[in-house]
Amino acid sequence: MADDIGYDSIFKIALIGDASVGKTNLIRKYVDNEFKDESMTTVGFDMKNKILEVDGSRVNLQIWDTAGQERFNSNPQVIFRNSSGVLIVFDVCDKQSFEKIEFWLNLIKENAGENAQIGVIGNKIDLEDHEVTQEEIEESSKKLQVRHFLTSAKTGEGVEKAFYDFTSLLISQNNQEVEISIEENNNQQTISIEKKPEIKAKNGGCC
Ligand code: GDP
Repeated sequence: MADDIGYDSIFKIALIGDASVGKTNLIRKYVDNEFKDESMTTVGFDMKNKILEVDGSRVNLQIWDTAGQERFNSNPQVIFRNSSGVLIVFDVCDKQSFEKIEFWLNLIKENAGENAQIGVIGNKIDLEDHEVTQEEIEESSKKLQVRHFLTSAKTGEGVEKAFYDFTSLLISQNNQEVEISIEENNNQQTISIEKKPEIKAKNGGCC
């Protein structure tokens, strides 16, 4: 317990994805309840903190925003180091940003720890001309085995839920029960500790 500093646990998460999909505005909306119509260029990396309560536990969520992919590609380890989770953001009105999910996923797998959780956010659902259908999003998430969320940084729809459910997923992963098995062979004991595979997130999570 870290009562004296106001939270019980701390998680570092990062948002990545193509430029202009809405990463900066998603974080702004979630942390400061603000939205800006003009594009804001993130130089290098930016970080905001949010304390939230999940399942009776106070969590300090450290949310890292990343710059456009060109700069970001040059040193991905910096952003992924010690990340508990990464959210890949795409724009539902920009098919190209959706088709890049796998690229970002591979980058995460190459650079983040193996326990880092990965989620996908389809942003800008307030707009009308969607280029990506709900079915395509569901199919892709199933194939890539990641949770997905739909949001609008402009109206705020789905934003709280996406961050809450993702944090809940991080907590449940962190607290996953372990299975301990002891094997005896020729008077030698081998102790194996394995994390149970299923993840129990509160509220079902995804959209
Ligand atoms: P980033 O480059 O991924 O950080 O994207 P920004 O947050 O800078 O947003 C890029 C542009 O998309 C800006 O003009 C935002 O106002 C706009 N934008 C971001 N999120 C949304 C959204 O949910 N709905 C709409 N309509 N516009 C958005």
